[in-house]
Amino acid sequence: MTWNLFLYTLNLEFYTTPYMKNISGIQQGIALDIDDTLSWTCREWVDHIFREFGNPENLSKGEFAKKYHLVQNAQYFQRDDVLARCMQFCYDERYYQELPSIEDALPAINEISRIIPIVAYLTTRPELLRKITDEWLVRHNFPAVPLIMNPHEFSHGITATWKSKALEERYPMILGIIDDNPSICEGLSSEYRGTVFLYGHGDADVPHPRSIACSDWNDVAKKITEHYLCQSSERVK
Ligand SMILES: [Mg+2]
Repeated sequence: MTWNLFLYTLNLEFYTTPYMKNISGIQQGIALDIDDTLSWTCREWVDHIFREFGNPENLSKGEFAKKYHLVQNAQYFQRDDVLARCMQFCYDERYYQELPSIEDALPAINEISRIIPIVAYLTTRPELLRKITDEWLVRHNFPAVPLIMNPHEFSHGITATWKSKALEERYPMILGIIDDNPSICEGLSSEYRGTVFLYGHGDADVPHPRSIACSDWNDVAKKITEHYLCQSSERVK
């Protein structure tokens, strides 16, 4: 058994911290979600929904995004007609093209990259949106790393499960993810050794033993620094 294979067999995150990554000779690091982690997707889409279906709580689009994260999380939008409209957004390039980026994401990612490399994007966007997604990432100066996209059609159950499996299968190449959606944790097994940094969530929202709540991008950078640097220094002792 080679040394690398031995380390993989142990499957210990210790051996895949930034300090140790060169042992395997393979670039290891973390992945980024895109929608509502890098781009203001829900905030912009709900603006269309408000105009077409009303705004029962009279929230601004920013207040809605902060409160619900996804359109379908608001009970009053759990209606077939609203969900059908959201599904149209999901497949229509026009609704992705002009999405603004989340302002604090890029500076935080630059800071995080000094602690642990960003190695991929992992998104439930379907493959047919690859070109427009690539262009959007370049336009907003996000890191040039592989884009892993959903090979299935959109369907909440399937896409959430696909993403969890895709993340878990790629461990320890992908050591974890920064993602706004806690549903990614539902499909992770209890053996999963990576880490899910839940962007935009408070400490009460920790759905998996390997998830860490992060209130905003500054908090993501802080928690990642603590997580990976402390982990290494503890083992070095
Ligand atoms: Mg997301």
